[in-house]
Amino acid sequence: MKWQKRLMSLVLAGCMAVSLLATTAMATDVATDDEKSTTTACPIDAHKWDDGKITVKPTATTTGLKVYTCKICGETKVLRLPKQPIQPVNKIFADVPANSWYIGFVQYVYSYGLMDGTGATTFSPNSPLTRAMVAQILYAQAYKPQTSGASLFSDVADADAWYYDAIVWAGENQVVAGYPDGTFKPMQSVTREELAMILYAREGKPKIIGGWSLKAFADADDVQSWAKDAVIWAYQNGIVNGSLENGKLYLDPQGNATRAEAATMLTKYLALKDWAD
Ligand SMILES: [Zn+2]
Repeated sequence: MKWQKRLMSLVLAGCMAVSLLATTAMATDVATDDEKSTTTACPIDAHKWDDGKITVKPTATTTGLKVYTCKICGETKVLRLPKQPIQPVNKIFADVPANSWYIGFVQYVYSYGLMDGTGATTFSPNSPLTRAMVAQILYAQAYKPQTSGASLFSDVADADAWYYDAIVWAGENQVVAGYPDGTFKPMQSVTREELAMILYAREGKPKIIGGWSLKAFADADDVQSWAKDAVIWAYQNGIVNGSLENGKLYLDPQGNATRAEAATMLTKYLALKDWAD
């Protein structure tokens, strides 16, 4: 597929979605850690999930939620339901052609409420992803939990800004770090290695399995040392594939991630996590 030639695409593995749920507004719908500890939990992957119950019905503009309960131990998991009825994004966004390499990924992130348009009829797939956008995406993925409402950053002060809640949350939960001078720089572009680092951090920075390196890529040495484990992890999990040029694979770690690339990475990342229904 075309997207495999470009970018870091995403992959996913993991259990972040489950751990996130415990800290979200949905917590009232799921068993708390205390409740879980009173039952005998199944071994990992041994749960027998029921058919699930829809607790929040999706609409054409909002996503829904479905709760599954383990028939053995009573543990629950919550999955997101896409907006319904599903509207093709090429009919909504004039700048998302039906034959583009990224349309399926934009469809996914839009349907699941992770990314909205940059305007009523624009998605801006080729625009750079900003730090504010990253915060907003991860905040949506975490089901937009309540925050203290107080920004930790000197340059995030307008409570009416579309990204305000997301950045307050990101700061409080150390999802996206600020800068030593106390700023967040919401409009700054995010590079591909930075995006890999943010996702790697969300996964709890798992240990890199031995034997993996970036030597398949012609520009492996361009990856900065702080990002190396993150990029290897992303490559290992299929999140980063590199782009093929003249027979060589490139990571372009310092290149700006575009919104279409972010949609692609996110789609793969969350699909691996069993995050959506
Ligand atoms: Zn179970």
